[in-house]
Amino acid sequence: MLATCFFMLLSPSALAKVSSSSASPQIRYSTENPLRYRIAELDPRLNLNKQQVIELSQQAAAIWSKDTGQNYFVYDPSATFVINLVFDQRQIRSIKRAENLHQLEKQQQIWLDQNQQLQILKQQLRYADTQLELQKTEYQAQAKSYQTAIEQLNAAHSKKTLAKKLQKQQHALESQSQLLQARIYDYNLKVQQLQKQSEKSNQLRQQLVQSVDEFNQTFKPQVLHKGQFDGKQIFIYEFSSLDDLRLTLAHEFGHALGLKHTQDPKSLMYPRIKEQDAKDFQLTNTDLKLLGLAD
Ligand SMILES: [Zn+2]
Repeated sequence: MLATCFFMLLSPSALAKVSSSSASPQIRYSTENPLRYRIAELDPRLNLNKQQVIELSQQAAAIWSKDTGQNYFVYDPSATFVINLVFDQRQIRSIKRAENLHQLEKQQQIWLDQNQQLQILKQQLRYADTQLELQKTEYQAQAKSYQTAIEQLNAAHSKKTLAKKLQKQQHALESQSQLLQARIYDYNLKVQQLQKQSEKSNQLRQQLVQSVDEFNQTFKPQVLHKGQFDGKQIFIYEFSSLDDLRLTLAHEFGHALGLKHTQDPKSLMYPRIKEQDAKDFQLTNTDLKLLGLAD
């Protein structure tokens, strides 16, 4: 009796959900019955030729066949299923974003180089500072010994030999004093140079921070549909590189197979292309699960 009541409480949609998740997924195509597709629209502003796109689409198809052994997709110039590569605001934005990012990276490199120079200069200055302290101490000791000798001379009432010795010592002290002055002058120049460089570096950093802010403002992360499968054809609206295009095609192929999105950012069927290895993508366990080929 209880079991019956429980069963009655379940809505038809809940029942449908339960039954669809327990059944094996509905994959529309297979090696025996592949999806035959062709490239229809290819906007010339994308700077891609048809052969390139055909090859990329075949690489995208290979992502699905490599680990499953199923050739789900076959290029066929007379197919009715088409892929369209559209050039609109989304692609323009994508190109601008890539350009701005490149500029930003250049700006950052300049600042990094400047900063490195600044560190070297600071190190040199620290070394010069230590050296200067040593020289000052030495000079002071010698000046003191000279002073003592003068006092001795006064007490000894003009002894010729001591006077000569003192004269020598005086010359030595004078030249040492000059040397020290020159070094102090150099040191101060270096300090000024460091200050200037520091200011310049700070300015660069501020500009960089501002540029990054502007970049983030202009290219706020948005949920943009890079591609779309409408049941009859695939549209590609945006891609930032050929690797990105290949993966976007493969993602839309997944929808054509009948697959839905996943929650796994590394999987092909995740709604955004970001964390996946775009260069050499391999289906993840999550993707294989969608195909009913993993548990
Ligand atoms: Zn999708």
